[in-house]
Amino acid sequence: MKRITILGSTGSIGRQTFKVIRKLKKDFKVVGLSANSNLPKLKSQIKEFHPEIAAILSKDAGIELKDWCRKNKLKTRVTDGLEGLVELSKYNSDILLSAVVGSVGLEPLISAIRTGKDIALANKESLVIAGKLIMAEARKHDVKILPVDSEHSAIFQCLKDEGLKKIKRIILTASGGPFYNYNRKHSTINVTQALDHPTWKMGPKITIDSATLMNKGLEAIEAHHLFNVPMDKIDIVIHPQSIVHSMVEFVDGSTLAQMSHPNMELPIQYALTYPQRYVSNLKKLNLTDVEKLEFYKPDFNKFRCLKLALEAGRAGGTMPVVMNAANEIAVGLFLNKKIKFTKIASIIDKVMSKHRSIKNPTLKQILQVDMQAKKDAGLLC
Ligand code: MG
Repeated sequence: MKRITILGSTGSIGRQTFKVIRKLKKDFKVVGLSANSNLPKLKSQIKEFHPEIAAILSKDAGIELKDWCRKNKLKTRVTDGLEGLVELSKYNSDILLSAVVGSVGLEPLISAIRTGKDIALANKESLVIAGKLIMAEARKHDVKILPVDSEHSAIFQCLKDEGLKKIKRIILTASGGPFYNYNRKHSTINVTQALDHPTWKMGPKITIDSATLMNKGLEAIEAHHLFNVPMDKIDIVIHPQSIVHSMVEFVDGSTLAQMSHPNMELPIQYALTYPQRYVSNLKKLNLTDVEKLEFYKPDFNKFRCLKLALEAGRAGGTMPVVMNAANEIAVGLFLNKKIKFTKIASIIDKVMSKHRSIKNPTLKQILQVDMQAKKDAGLLC
């Protein structure tokens, strides 16, 4: 039986992880949970899974949760704040699934790696801003980083034991989001339209990132670090059906793809059960029902966020840190109806052009640059 800790348990990936764990009950014991602020959901998860420890980012919610556990005679120990998240990530477990959204996941992730537990990683922003450091720590502590992101799970499954030298290129697929064929001006796009993703059901931040195609830029940087492949060997194609989750082309001209209906439970399950493949009751793929699989080139002029993210990835150093920080702030502002859809890219562009990138930054420098870029982005609204 594997002991598992879940960071970000009340979000979209966290909830889907529980769906997987309910089916694999015999093999997993949930020992730790954490949430940002969703107390009702966290309470119901504590009642169902009886974890040994739970963390909540908000200090006030932490006090309420401690009281509630006491009143309900639950033995779960409650911690709070970022220190609480870090404590949880160090807690005795075999695997930690990080489904936190944003750069807040970085410190807990590094702490978890240093305790030697394997990581199922859905928190792509951490890899984007500190991929080099994370992968170096993972190598040092002999920790496996198992991708939960569907594209990276696909690449991971296609790669198997093929060495880096055998890879000609990685082809990341993107659904294109709700605006791939949108003919009106992008400045008129509202929050409801942007949250209406055609193929995937996801949390609000990643859904907006998918609408701007920023998500694919973040994923290219994520792939660059996870698989140690240079940015210029990573191509992006629009694939509206979301059936091919990504591909790897090898030096002999052979291209492998991983296919399934879009459902995050599959990559979550594979990351948790790796290197085993377990049975699942997910809808099976019948290609004659799908009928067609289409692939198009992305339009970098229409989707400026994608272009900016790839530029940041190629620049390296702390440039991806500021790109990601500005994006996190801009997406928040858009979701709160403070800025137009097209302003997201403008904010990222401005913050990036002001930044002088630091080569091989330390963790402390990354966190400082992240904080400063978030401040700068907030002032541009
Ligand atoms: Mg993805």
